[in-house]
This record gives sequence, structure tokens and C-alpha cells, in this order.
Amino acid sequence: MKKVTILGSTGSIGRATLEVIDNFKQDFEVLGLSTNSRIKILIEQVKRFHPKEIAVVNLNSAKLLERTFKKENVSLLLGKEGLNKLAQNHDTDILFLAISGSDALFPLLKAIDSGKTIALANKEALVMAGPLIMQRLKSKKAKILPVDSEQSAIWQCIEGKDKKTVKKIYLTASGGPLKDIDKSAFKDLSLKEVLEHPCWKMGKKITVDSATLMNKGLELFETMYLFDVDISQIEVLIHPEAIIHSMVEFIDGSILAQLSYTDMRIPIQYALTYPERKGGFLPTVDFIKLKHLSFYKPDLSKFPSLDLAYEVARKGGTLPAVLNSANEVAVEAFLKGKIGFLSIFKIIKDVVKLHKSIVFPDLEEVISAHQWAKIKAQQLVEEYRR
Ligand code: MG
Repeated sequence: MKKVTILGSTGSIGRATLEVIDNFKQDFEVLGLSTNSRIKILIEQVKRFHPKEIAVVNLNSAKLLERTFKKENVSLLLGKEGLNKLAQNHDTDILFLAISGSDALFPLLKAIDSGKTIALANKEALVMAGPLIMQRLKSKKAKILPVDSEQSAIWQCIEGKDKKTVKKIYLTASGGPLKDIDKSAFKDLSLKEVLEHPCWKMGKKITVDSATLMNKGLELFETMYLFDVDISQIEVLIHPEAIIHSMVEFIDGSILAQLSYTDMRIPIQYALTYPERKGGFLPTVDFIKLKHLSFYKPDLSKFPSLDLAYEVARKGGTLPAVLNSANEVAVEAFLKGKIGFLSIFKIIKDVVKLHKSIVFPDLEEVISAHQWAKIKAQQLVEEYRR
């Protein structure tokens, strides 16, 4: 029986992970859960899965929780420190990291330092500090198992192959909720239009990132770092059916792809059961019904985020952290109705342009670039406020 701790168990990926675990009750035990502030969902999860430890990052509801959990016999960890402590729990076999955004960086580093096997669903931490994270992984016995569907696909195609034989990676993208909406309509897009993703059910931040294609931009960094390839080897392909989750081309011209029904529970299950495969509980691809798979080039004039991400990936240094932080601030401002959709692009571009990058940053330099970018982006939010 594998003991699983889920950081971010009340978010979209965290809840999907518990659904998978629920289907394999004899294989997994839930050891720890955490939330930022979704207390109600956490209480339900505790009653159903009986973890030994939980962490709540937002301190406001702590008192109420302490009373509730006395009965449940579960120890409560508080704040960011509590989360970091849960990330290092000795008894955890798999740490499932499903926190969204840059808040995942420190728990991830703590987990690496304590030699954990980490199922990583968060991409922002890698974007911020990918080279440092990969370097640290080498010196510890920790392992990262990718959960992002594209990275899981690449991993499944590439594992066991000689790295020198990898020529190119096709990173596929469904195109997001705005692929069929004309650029001229972007100015007046409502939050609701942006949050209606045609293929994937996800959290709000990542759905906005899918709409701007910044999600694919962030995945460029994930792919570069996780599989140690150059940015010039990665090509983004729009693939609206979202059946091929990415492909790897080898030097002899062979291309391997991973295909499946579009559902995050498939890559989640693979990370949990790895190196084994277990019987699935979801539908499989019906090729006859599907008839065809289509591909086209992303429209970079419509989605400048992707172009900017390529440029930042080529330059490296502290720029990726800055790109990520500016995006986080801009997306949050858009979700709160402070800025229009097009201002997201403008804010990120401006912040990246203003940044003086450090070439081989250490962790402290990454963090200060991240904080600088947050402040800069906040100022621009006020400037572009509608
Ligand atoms: Mg993805």
C-alpha cells in the first residue's frame, strides 16, 4: 500500500487525485491533505479519507478547525510552515504536489531535500527555478513524476530511451477557450467566456492561462527542464481534439505519441501507480467516432504570450521567474475584474521588458526577481485598471 500526501487537495487536481485513490482503495492510503482556505471541502475530505495530518495555510479559520478535528484524530499544521512540514512527512511514499502557482516552490524544495518521490502537477515552481530544482534533484534521492498531461505524455514516450536520440518534442495544445473567437473581440471578453474551456475542466488560474496560451508558454519551461532539451527542440502544435497529449520525434524519424481520452485522472493515475499500470475506470478513445485528428500552427499575433515565453526561454536567467510572477498578478487582477483581457498580455510584456536579468541566479536572486516582478505588475494593474 502506497502512502500518499496531497498538497492542495481541495483544488481541481487535488480532488481528481482523491477520486483516483477512491477507485484503488486497496492500493493507496491517504496520509496527509492540505488546503489554502477551502475549509469546507477539506473537512469532507478528512471525514472520507481519514488522513493523519492536514495543513491549512490561511490561518483565519484555524480555531473552528481545531474543534472539528479533535474528533477526527488528525493533527493540524498551520500556515506556510505547516505546509512545508507536511511536504517533508517521513512516512509519505508519494507526495502529490497540486498547489497552484508560485506558492508551490518552497514545499517542492523541502520535498526534494527530504528525498521524496514527487508527483508534480504544479508548473509555476519549475518555471521560476527549473535549473536549480533539477540540480537539487540530482544531488538528492528525490524524484519528480510529471502529472501535467503533456509532460506525462512526453515522459511515457521518452522513458528508457537514450536522450541523445531525441530530436524534437511536439507539445500539443487544445487551443483553449478562445481559439475560435476573433482577435477583435478580445477587448471586451467577459470572465465567463474566458473560463469556458472546451476540453479540460480545471482551476480558474490555469483556465485563464489556457485562454491566453500562457499555459503552453509555461509548459515550454517544464519540458525544457524535466527532459533536458533545448527550447529550439520544442514545437507547439494546436490540436483541438486534445487526444494526443504530446509527441517525441527521434533521430531516425520515428515519432512516439501518447493518446488517451481527455481527462486529468489518466495522467494522475499513471503518476500514482508508476512504474505499474493499473486498470482504468474512464472511457477510452473511440477512433471511429473521432474520425480525424487535426493540427495547426498557433497564431502568435493573436496569442503573444507564447511568443514571449519562447523569447524568455531562450534568454533564461531570472526572466522566467519574472514572466511567471507578472502572469500570476495579471491573471488574478483579471479574475477580480480589475483589468480587461488584453491587459494581461500588456502587463506581462512590460514587466519582462523592464527586468534586468541575472544570468545564473541562485535561489535568493530568483525570489527577489519574483518579488520585484509582483510589485511591478501590481503597479501596472493600477495603470491599466478599467
Ligand atoms: Mg497541460
